[in-house]
Amino acid sequence: MPVLKSDKLGLLIDTGGCPNRCAHCSVKGKPTRQMSYQEMRWIVQQFRELRADDRPFFSEIDVGLSFMEPDFRDDYRVLWDLQCELGDVEHKHGGLLSIWRIARDDTYLTWVKEKGGTLCQVTLFGAGETHDRFTRPGAFADSIEAMKRLLEADFAIQWFLVFTKAIIPDLDELLHIAEDLGLKERSERFICLGIVEPVGRGWNLEHLRPSSADLDLLPEFLRDRDKAGYGERTEAECTRLALDGKVSPGKYETLWLHIDASFNVFPQFGEVQTWYRLGNLRSDGPERIIEAYISDQTPGQHARFVMGAKALAQRYGNLESDLLYTPGSLFHRWIVQHCTSREPRRC
Ligand code: SF4
Repeated sequence: MPVLKSDKLGLLIDTGGCPNRCAHCSVKGKPTRQMSYQEMRWIVQQFRELRADDRPFFSEIDVGLSFMEPDFRDDYRVLWDLQCELGDVEHKHGGLLSIWRIARDDTYLTWVKEKGGTLCQVTLFGAGETHDRFTRPGAFADSIEAMKRLLEADFAIQWFLVFTKAIIPDLDELLHIAEDLGLKERSERFICLGIVEPVGRGWNLEHLRPSSADLDLLPEFLRDRDKAGYGERTEAECTRLALDGKVSPGKYETLWLHIDASFNVFPQFGEVQTWYRLGNLRSDGPERIIEAYISDQTPGQHARFVMGAKALAQRYGNLESDLLYTPGSLFHRWIVQHCTSREPRRC
C-alpha cells in the first residue's frame, strides 16, 4: 500500500492540454478542453474541505496549473497568478518552459525572468525532420528559434536528448548545432541523454529502445555516462535485481494527483490510463478518491504495491535481454504488461 507519509497534497491540473504531440508523452499531449478558472478553484476547494477527525486532511496543498506544456494557454500570466493564489507552496518558474511560446511570444521570456526563471530544458528526439516526426511539423525549427532567444535573454539551456535508436544517426549533427550555439562553453553538463520510460505514449517507442550494443555507436563525448547523465542497465541485470527483491515500489512523501480536463483523477505513477484511474472528482468526490488511493483499488496500484516487482519479474522478466532500462522503468513496463493483459491501452 502506498502509505501516506505526510499530509501534503499536490494537484496537477490539465487546464488546456498541449500544442505538441511528443511521442513519449505520458499524458497523451494534445489540446484539451480549456478549463475555466471557476473549475480550477472548485477542484482545489474539494480537497481543502476534506476533513479527518475534525481537522483538514491535508495541511498543505501545492497546485500546478500546467499538467502539460506550461504556459501554452494565452492567459498563462493569469494562470500563474491563480496557481500562486490557490496553492500553499511558493513557486519560481522552473526549467520547463513553453518552447512553442518562446518561439512566438516576444514578451514571454522577460515575464519568465520576473518569475525567477533562469534555465530552460530543450527536449530533442533528433535533428530536423527526425525531431518533427516524434513531435509535430515545425517543432525543430521552433526549438532552434527558442534557443537563440533564450541565449539572447541570458538563460541557461539544458538539452534533454531522448535516447532512442532513431536519434543515434543525428547525434553528430546535434553536437555541431550545440557547438555553433556555444552551449558547451556555457556548461560542460548541458546535455542529458535520457531513455524513454515505457509510460503513456512512450510505450509505443519500445521498439526503438537502445540496447547495450548501441552505446558503442554514441559519439565519444556522450560515452561518458557521467557527463551525459544516463545510468541505465540491461533488462537482464534489472530483472535479476527484481528477482533478488532489490526493486522497491518507490517512496511517495507527498501525494500528487493528476486531474484531467474531464475531472478524472490519477495518482503519481506516471500513467493516466484507466488502470490507475482513482475516480472522477465530479461524480465520486474527494473522499472516495483518497480511499481508492489508500486501499490500492486500482489495478495498477495493486500490481505495484500488492504483487510487487519480484512477482512481476517472475512472470515478465527476461534474463537474456540487453535492452537498457532503469529498474524502476522496467518495473513500470511489467505493470503495464500486467494491466494490459486484462484491458487494452488507450494511447
Ligand atoms: S511531453 Fe510535454 S510538450 Fe510533449 S506532448 Fe506531452 S505535455 Fe506536450
